[in-house]
Amino acid sequence: MTVARYHARTRSLFGSTGALPSVRAAVLALRPEVPMLCLRPAKASREAARFVDSFPGQVLYAVKCNPDEAVLRALAAGGIGHFDAASIAEVRLVRRLFPEAGIHFMHPVKARSAIREAYGLHGVRDFVLDGAGELDKIVAETEGASDLRLIVRLGLAKGDARLDLSGKFGASADDAVRLLRRCAAVGRVGLSFHVGSQCCDPSAWERALAQADAVIRAAAIQLDVLDVGGGFPVAYPGMRPPPLAAFMAAIRRGVARMGLPSGCVLWCEPGRALVAGCQSLVVQVQARRGDMLFINDGVYGTLSDAGALAWRYPCRLIKAAGASHETLQAFGFFGPTCDSLDRMPGPFLLPADTAEGDWIEIGQLGAYGACLRTGFNGFNDLLRVEVGEPAVPSQASRAA
Ligand SMILES: *Cc1c(COP(=O)(O)O)cnc(C)c1O
Repeated sequence: MTVARYHARTRSLFGSTGALPSVRAAVLALRPEVPMLCLRPAKASREAARFVDSFPGQVLYAVKCNPDEAVLRALAAGGIGHFDAASIAEVRLVRRLFPEAGIHFMHPVKARSAIREAYGLHGVRDFVLDGAGELDKIVAETEGASDLRLIVRLGLAKGDARLDLSGKFGASADDAVRLLRRCAAVGRVGLSFHVGSQCCDPSAWERALAQADAVIRAAAIQLDVLDVGGGFPVAYPGMRPPPLAAFMAAIRRGVARMGLPSGCVLWCEPGRALVAGCQSLVVQVQARRGDMLFINDGVYGTLSDAGALAWRYPCRLIKAAGASHETLQAFGFFGPTCDSLDRMPGPFLLPADTAEGDWIEIGQLGAYGACLRTGFNGFNDLLRVEVGEPAVPSQASRAA
């Protein structure tokens, strides 16, 4: 069955909204042989509201993490009104969906045409930069605009995040001081940093804030925005990050030590923490060899981080027929392509009698999942559904 046919069946079975009561009901009705991405919009809205309530400033959603329109709408419903865009395509997407939203161009290196279009057509006034060459580009492409807010990205020493972002972007402390002064001659100024993605140590923000403080004092400029970046972690299986409150407390402590001017606003740019939980993926087992399962999605599809990073995700079995075994067993996955790197070690815990034809719902794939899919080897079909079911699979969940 083609994906279009699946969608037609979804509508005929469950009505025109396309929202299904549960993942299990959808699977048993559609019996999908292509991977099926399941969105729980209410979960995205809840996480957005939780973040907006607990962060002492403005929350910008980092669009690159999951640009799915339904996800963006769910986040907006949860109170997100500002977006961190990194490309002109992301700027256009957000502007099309939300005419009134704040869009902030947070990539330190931009195409000239992207700067021109963002400023001229989409009302973007905030631009991140980490070098003098980029400042010259922004000034030239906005024709010397006087209403810019220029945010200098400070580079941090290699930190405690699972995915380190230092090294590619960010000015050194000395360069940041010089750049802040040059920017202050052009418009309003801000300072930003990013501690790295999936950073499980709240004190990383306190250390970064101390570095930012030294730069701001040395530059002796009036700071308009302090942006503490993204990187807030998710409790994937095998990782035990402290609760969100611990990160917020660390940020409040770090900021309190700085003595920022009263008009200075605080921003953060979470991606992963807002959306990881809102999408799961249903895959089908195409073959079993011992404790390895050949499934119909993999590292060139929705499961990149399960490959190179060997991250684990919660799994639950949906049996094609009959009840499943009580005992859980550790499995690894092979993806559908012919490439030998298309392998995910896990371990993923599933009932011991998992067999060909069964489906597996893999949870916590809302962040850096479907947006990283390639069509490599012809495996590009993906079925997308929305489910009303609030529960997301947890590591403990077993058979269905
Ligand atoms: C990717 C990115 C984010 C989001 O990071 P998460 O780890 O998903 O929270 C925020 N800001 C910048 C500049 C980024 O590049």
